Amino acid sequence: MTFSGPVETNSTQMIDPFGRHVTYLRVSVTDRCDFRCVYCMSENMTFLPKKDLLTLEELDRLCTAFVAKGVRKLRITGGEPLVRKNIIWLFEALSRHLQAGALDELTLTTNGSQLPRFAGQLADCGVKRVNVSLDSLDPEKFRKITRWGNFDQVMRGIDAAREAGLHVKINVVALKGVNDDEHDEMIRWAHGAGMDLTFIEAMPMGDIDGDRSDQYLPLSVVRARLMDNWTLIDIPYKTGGPARYVQASETGGKIGFITPMTHNFCESCNRVRVTCTGTLYMCLGQDDAADLRTPLRSDDSDRLLAAVIDEAISRKPKGHDFVIDRRTNRPSVSRHMSVTGG
Ligand code: SAM
Ligand code: SF4
Repeated sequence: MTFSGPVETNSTQMIDPFGRHVTYLRVSVTDRCDFRCVYCMSENMTFLPKKDLLTLEELDRLCTAFVAKGVRKLRITGGEPLVRKNIIWLFEALSRHLQAGALDELTLTTNGSQLPRFAGQLADCGVKRVNVSLDSLDPEKFRKITRWGNFDQVMRGIDAAREAGLHVKINVVALKGVNDDEHDEMIRWAHGAGMDLTFIEAMPMGDIDGDRSDQYLPLSVVRARLMDNWTLIDIPYKTGGPARYVQASETGGKIGFITPMTHNFCESCNRVRVTCTGTLYMCLGQDDAADLRTPLRSDDSDRLLAAVIDEAISRKPKGHDFVIDRRTNRPSVSRHMSVTGG
């Protein structure tokens, strides 16, 4: 196996016009998925032609260029990252930056379906934590939300991850009238197994088959309801992402809230995202982007790539302005979450 060379550490760091250091990169390695979650995709999705995707070698070069520019945390996502062919090759390649101390964390977000196959190999590559998305503990409801997902397979995936020594965090998109009756039970289940759990507000990204205003549930409401049954204590815990955490006194476990809609977390934003075609988005909620595939393919030295990244970071916007209401029944950004990666 050959990987592009070691990281050159004398490159400039990425600091945006608002003084925020960019140290966190999320990379979507595919727009494809084995599920069709109702809030994320429509059932009949048209995916990108495979030739438009960066190769795994190109993804490695790209991530390496960002590590050289000060990225300390790398999250592999999608689509479903574990359905990308040979994906373990990329984790193996990137693990050299962990070993060299250039990277603090290599992690992924997954729907869990492929973890029975890959959990052990991911752990061998230095992955310590994994976010698994799970919106219901009821197999029937799970099937309705994911359309194509198999609940037992995901449960086996979570078990495999824990057996491999990975720390699992459960991500739950709060869906009005769908899973709001299960939030207490999900906390009990996750904390009982030593897993933290994070609630996410549904974001208006990409066309789906239904009306988003029917799904949207502000986390302020979720939190107020939880307080009927739980003693929630604000804690300063941070994982490098946008979640704010509380601890439930009853279990000692953590509950995170990611609130792009009700609370703008942009002031502390330290991250950027790259799609599987090499498009760099400086903000999840804005359309401005930079093409990294062209410099990647036209200059083997990566100098051009570094220059394009610098120019893009100088345009990182102050924040996003997502809106979900009945009058604005259009996505705030046209691309799906599965394109930019959650
Ligand atoms: N397929 C993997 C998974 O589901 O974990 C990784 C990609 S998925 C796009 C990443 C995260 O984004 C998941 O937790 C998913 O629930 C969340 N997500 C997808 N579409 C969303 C939306 N419109 N609003 C809020 N969260 C969304
Ligand atoms: Fe697939 Fe993840 Fe989107 Fe669900 S949320 S359709 S699992 S990419």
